[in-house]
Amino acid sequence: MPRVRNWQIGRDMSYPYAEKHPRRQFAFVFNTNRCIGCQTCTMACKSTWTFSLGQEAMWWANVETKPYGGYPHGWDMKLLQKLEEANPGGQKWNGTPGGEASPYGTFQGKTVFEAAQSPVSTDEAKRVLGYLPTDKEWQAPNIYEDTPGGAKRGARFELDREGISGTAHSTWFFYLARICNHCSYPACLAACPRQAIYKRPEDGIVLIDQKRCRGYRKCVAACPYKKAMYRPTTRVSEKCIACYPRVEGNDPEARGIPLETRCMSACIGQIRMQGLVDLNEDGSWKEDRQNPLYYMVKVAKVALPIYPQFGTQPNGFYIPPRWVPRPYLTQMFGPGVEPAIERYAAPDRELLAVLQLFRRSNRIIFRYAIEEGPKVYEREINGKHFEMYNDTVIAFGKNGREIFRTTVEEPVHVRPPQHVGSV
Ligand code: SF4
Ligand code: SF4
Ligand code: SF4
Repeated sequence: MPRVRNWQIGRDMSYPYAEKHPRRQFAFVFNTNRCIGCQTCTMACKSTWTFSLGQEAMWWANVETKPYGGYPHGWDMKLLQKLEEANPGGQKWNGTPGGEASPYGTFQGKTVFEAAQSPVSTDEAKRVLGYLPTDKEWQAPNIYEDTPGGAKRGARFELDREGISGTAHSTWFFYLARICNHCSYPACLAACPRQAIYKRPEDGIVLIDQKRCRGYRKCVAACPYKKAMYRPTTRVSEKCIACYPRVEGNDPEARGIPLETRCMSACIGQIRMQGLVDLNEDGSWKEDRQNPLYYMVKVAKVALPIYPQFGTQPNGFYIPPRWVPRPYLTQMFGPGVEPAIERYAAPDRELLAVLQLFRRSNRIIFRYAIEEGPKVYEREINGKHFEMYNDTVIAFGKNGREIFRTTVEEPVHVRPPQHVGSV
């Protein structure tokens, strides 16, 4: 198998195809601390793309409650178990960040591509370690919604004088919003015997050619995130298309301006930001300091890839939830969790400004700038001095034109007494 570079696991790895990268890559950051589990994103996708016959159990966007929820049921635990069986006790990171080439350290275990070559995998033709979920596992997409893990006897929240502290809670759950990660090394693409799956050179969006697909479901078994799905009425597989007409600016609503996807634009909790990052020929991210995605992933390192150890180099990045036990989060987001939470809990001036960019517009932000404002607040957070400035952050679109500007402090509007209670 050819060797390719995977920056998220800090090393080269085996992949069935030689390295080739798009010019730009579709990517997104989800802030799990803000998600309220309202499922508006889920329904925005459903009502746009999967409302037809044979798509009833198909949710390209879903939000599951961790630790117990999952669509399909137990997708991540099942695969982690299989990887462990293929490489007992070896699924470990060295955890020492090595700069740009290995920002989270080096993963020393086996990816889904490498584990497929292990003796445990009996099928010699198999390119990816995975499994095909049962029909039952695709049912009840919000199973275990709001079911917490942790202490058996009720909640024990750790409160300090000023509210909930920055430490993990003994009783916890969090909402994990998920879509296809439009991976740099897609497992769905690697497994397809028909070569029906391709990655677009202009934006890295991963699509299934409906005419070439014969419904063998190799992609369904291979995708570690279980985001390729089979449609029984057409007998071919389907997946999230990253709302590509919107990203291209070709949606009638877009009028030529690149728009964020439906599930991003609809997000009530303002947890989602989607954009495009420029790539070098070797697939590394071109330095683009003022792109908000580049800033959050590469500079502030506050947003982390989901299950990077699977090896597909997913382009979905998550700001981890502050209150969840760290071993669980480290398993899901890798060794960058602790520093990411520390930065998020007491954000510096720039990060606080960038966090205001989420969901002020449905247009894709290509660049931001900050105009400094006065200091409005200060306190100690987890032993660190925190200062808040009412800076103005300005978002620019593809053509360099300003999309919007907003401030760190939200304006407070007091309703005059004669209008109290009116809408
Ligand atoms: S998340 Fe799954 S379906 Fe999406 S590109 Fe990656 S491997 Fe393919
Ligand atoms: S990007 Fe578009 S197609 Fe993909 S999950 Fe979101 S709404 Fe659905
Ligand atoms: S719309 Fe936003 S806040 Fe609501 S469930 Fe989806 S990601 Fe979470």
